[in-house]
Amino acid sequence: MSFADLPAPLRDALAARGYAEPTAVQSAVLTPDAAGRDLLVSAQTGSGKTVAYGLALAPELIGDAPRLPPAGAPLALVVAPTRELALQVKAELTWLYAPAGGRIVSCVGGMDPVAERRQLAQGAHIVVGTPGRLRDHLERGNLAPASLRAVVLDEADEMLDLGFKEELEAILEETPAERRTLLFSATVPRGIAALAKGYQRDALRIEA
Ligand code: AMP
Repeated sequence: MSFADLPAPLRDALAARGYAEPTAVQSAVLTPDAAGRDLLVSAQTGSGKTVAYGLALAPELIGDAPRLPPAGAPLALVVAPTRELALQVKAELTWLYAPAGGRIVSCVGGMDPVAERRQLAQGAHIVVGTPGRLRDHLERGNLAPASLRAVVLDEADEMLDLGFKEELEAILEETPAERRTLLFSATVPRGIAALAKGYQRDALRIEA
């Protein structure tokens, strides 16, 4: 799989960044077999996993349109274990979706929740955040889950190790059952397998 079949704005973003070839995990998530499927992906930091799920979300975000619609209710949610990772993911998805007109909002522990609420109210295509803060915004009605077409759990094993199981389950329970669920994890211990079993349907297993 090459980048050539991607929607034009994503190809433009990758070209501007100087990324000519997909990494192994990017090739794997872009195979026709993975299209539209729930994914359970073993991927390490540095593998290009963030761009991988960014690209995997293209059907839910852009579909066949030339660009994203104006930012309104969010289409995708990315959950990450730490503030640092969440902000890094936001930066990565921001350049990737810039030519498509993407708006990415972050919601992370330790940042001003009122400012985040304002950002959410202005609309977003993708919301990236840490489990506790995302759950807070969902419970307070600042983040409306009904429009979400996909949820990504990034470094899922790390999130379980940090004790976020309850938050992850609450977030997944709040989001539409027909959502696509992409689970990225360095390792797949029992807890991750259980999460996958409980919240994914017919997931494609990828070990890149
Ligand atoms: P990650 O595994 O998501 O932390 O990504 C590691 C680094 O690889 C990030 O700086 C990415 O921007 C970069 N990267 C992602 N995809 C590619 C690619 N296809 N070619 C070169 N570098 C990439």
